[in-house]
Amino acid sequence: MNRGRRRRPHVKLSASMALAPFFLVLGMAWDVDTPDLKPGFNLFSPQQDVQLGKESAEEVDRTYPLLADPQVLRYVSDLGRQLASLAPSNNSAYVWTFKVIDSSDINAFALPGGYVYVNRGAIEAAENEAQLAGVIAHESGHVVMRHGTHEATAALLAQAPLALLESILGRSGSLSGQLTAMGLNLGLNSILLKNSRDAEIQADAVGAYILYRAGYPPHALAEFFEIVERKYPQKTAQFFSDHPNPEDRVKRIDTEASGDILLYGRPEKRKGDSLEFADAKKRLASIPSLSSVEAASSASSGPMGPPPPPSSRLMKFDGYGISIAYPDNWQVQRSEDAVVLVPPGGIIEVPETGAAQAYGMSISRFQPQRLSQGNWGLVGATAELLNVLRASNPNLRVIEQHALNLKGRSALSTLLETDSPLPGQKERDLLVTARQSDFMVSLIFIAPQSQFDAYKPTFDAMLQSLELR
Ligand SMILES: [Zn+2]
Repeated sequence: MNRGRRRRPHVKLSASMALAPFFLVLGMAWDVDTPDLKPGFNLFSPQQDVQLGKESAEEVDRTYPLLADPQVLRYVSDLGRQLASLAPSNNSAYVWTFKVIDSSDINAFALPGGYVYVNRGAIEAAENEAQLAGVIAHESGHVVMRHGTHEATAALLAQAPLALLESILGRSGSLSGQLTAMGLNLGLNSILLKNSRDAEIQADAVGAYILYRAGYPPHALAEFFEIVERKYPQKTAQFFSDHPNPEDRVKRIDTEASGDILLYGRPEKRKGDSLEFADAKKRLASIPSLSSVEAASSASSGPMGPPPPPSSRLMKFDGYGISIAYPDNWQVQRSEDAVVLVPPGGIIEVPETGAAQAYGMSISRFQPQRLSQGNWGLVGATAELLNVLRASNPNLRVIEQHALNLKGRSALSTLLETDSPLPGQKERDLLVTARQSDFMVSLIFIAPQSQFDAYKPTFDAMLQSLELR
């Protein structure tokens, strides 16, 4: 449904002089320029939005740790579907899948076609259900206004003639493959996720409209953006990079809401928090989050005591394009560019230097720079990575290096020695590198030299379980 501002009722100042001040106020609010709630120019079909979204969502699912709690998932999914069903403009063309990423960073994003991801941090930060509904409604706005493929359309038009693009997009097969071949970045820093300020204004307008129809106060959407920016500045960098604040965000959202009230009247019921919202918050509070695990493990490390020995029972980590077994008394921590599997107290900070001795294993990706893209070898790329590591570990020394076969994939094993941040000690690292599409995945198994042999059987068992996708 198209709810353009031209369809709003005209206010007649002449109706009654007594009412003039009231109407004048509203009339001024209307002057804030609100875009019509319909998608912009787009070369893709809604079906292609779904196809492209599905292909990208598969990569997101492989890369990010997803929350598995069925109760929280059901709640977010039910809430999301209910809100999406109230969205204007062809909402039934999309699949509407809602997932929760197990990260305490405050973030939410939507891929084309209705694949919506909400970080647990966003649920935890929402002070009431209306605020959570607001952020989900905003993401649904990006979906129905097709901002991802609208941006992709603009990027494609900048580099190829329209007729050629139409013939390419008309072919069958993997859409993301074809677009990547045309030089469009569809990875996790994808153009599909970068919203312009205009797209933000439109997603806010749709979000306010959905909230209004659902019976939540639309102002809650503006409130959510305000409180997270004010209260958690260190956890919102990605959120505001994907959803840049348009000027006067709060004023615009409130204007949308008052427009809705004029057009449709006040909603009959005002929704408060559901029992399920309170339950979901309670559940999350009982499931350790990755960053609170991090805080707990460094707090419990005590004065340089070694962590407890690795358990022989193994769990499976799945994400970042790999799956690997790890001792069930270890914890998973995720930072912006790495996943770390560590024993409790496995990161021992040395206050004098700010450095830390770690036990455990880290997984990260490395993009070879000096070698031309797509045409690099493992040995050269590993040497490049070692040079990067040497910048912060000048005494890093290669003890031994040999080729490794990981379930049919060739890999390189490099044993390293370096100074430990613990005074007078050395650290030993086993670096395993393998190619993973355009990246090199690097796994570093870490222990103080004196402990390395004790950890070696655990490291070997982990390596044997490793699967790269
Ligand atoms: Zn946004």
